[in-house]
Amino acid sequence: MLESEEKYRTFFESSIDAVLLTSPDGTIYAANPEACRIFGMTEKEIIKVGRDGIVDTSDPRLQFVLEERARTGKFKGELNYRRKDGTIFPGEMSSALFHDKNGTVKIAVIIRDITERKKAEETLKSKLEELQRSNDELEQFAYVSSHDLQEPLRMISSYLQLLQRRYQGNLDEKADKYIYFAVDGASRMQVLISDLLEFSRVTTRAREPEPTDSELILNQVLSSLYLYIKQNRATVTCDPLPEVTVDNTQLAQVFQNLIANGIKFHGEEAPKIHISAKKISVENKVSEWLFSVQDNGIGIDPKYSEKIFEVFKRLHKKEEYQGTGIGLAICKKIIERHGGHIWVESELGKGATFYFTLPINPKEV
Ligand code: ADP
Repeated sequence: MLESEEKYRTFFESSIDAVLLTSPDGTIYAANPEACRIFGMTEKEIIKVGRDGIVDTSDPRLQFVLEERARTGKFKGELNYRRKDGTIFPGEMSSALFHDKNGTVKIAVIIRDITERKKAEETLKSKLEELQRSNDELEQFAYVSSHDLQEPLRMISSYLQLLQRRYQGNLDEKADKYIYFAVDGASRMQVLISDLLEFSRVTTRAREPEPTDSELILNQVLSSLYLYIKQNRATVTCDPLPEVTVDNTQLAQVFQNLIANGIKFHGEEAPKIHISAKKISVENKVSEWLFSVQDNGIGIDPKYSEKIFEVFKRLHKKEEYQGTGIGLAICKKIIERHGGHIWVESELGKGATFYFTLPINPKEV
């Protein structure tokens, strides 16, 4: 008995948290050195002022804490406390009722001053809000600029084409060349701008995810790619695919981009694409669907496996393979918007497998 009292004393005196011994009516019997430090009072003063002298009595959570503790015998949560100089600070409190050796009900209360943690949380929250705001502004900027640039560019492009049709061969050879470059540049810019617009529409035109049969979506994509598949003598196969909670138009965009790339970047052999999906469990226990789109094409040097997901990043000249380099950036934005990840595993000349995950229950994430 004596030994356990000794142990209790040591814990009480040296605890890095404030420890109080109180009664259910708010009387305080003892306070340890850390309690004296955080409240700025001596033990005697703490005992004198009692619970109402150290708790912020205007904290609306107080009544609930007292009632819950009386009902269940314990309580863990946050509450505001008051220092001797009247300043209020947030505390994390854990308390439990027990019977002392005379059978009297007492309460052991442990309090930790969480001012610093709260400050850090607040800073993080406001930084996140700031980031979100600047992200929204950027999105808006990309949308508005790409949308509004389309009109004047259409005009430039059509007048240049008119110039080309009317005056080709009537001026000198140099003039023909200049007009050709101007027309070519304008039409490339049109493609880039419309791709940028499509990229920003991933968020501006987003719809609420809803349960969707991914196999059905894949089949719709395959029928829209029918000619392209046939012209390239490609074979596309798939395993049974699950129901997922997605914006179905966007899932179709992902399938379309990955399959079309698998065909476009083919090697010597006729392109073969295989799509499959399996359930995986990740550390934090939320299960995900892992989709894969595998091809037998030219492959990607692993050192570019992250770069290729950036806007307008391409590994080939447009004369070798057509495209603007926006497809994978769109896929990444779509998948991340759904709470998933996308990546590629590949080696040059050995085909590529694109993986993406989709949470099984997006609300949990
Ligand atoms: P685009 O197809 O218009 O070039 P993407 O964003 O879809 O743009 O792809 C970016 C780059 O990643 C491509 O230019 C290509 O170099 C590489 N890439 C994408 N998919 C594949 C693939 N299946 N096999 C080999 N390289 C690929």
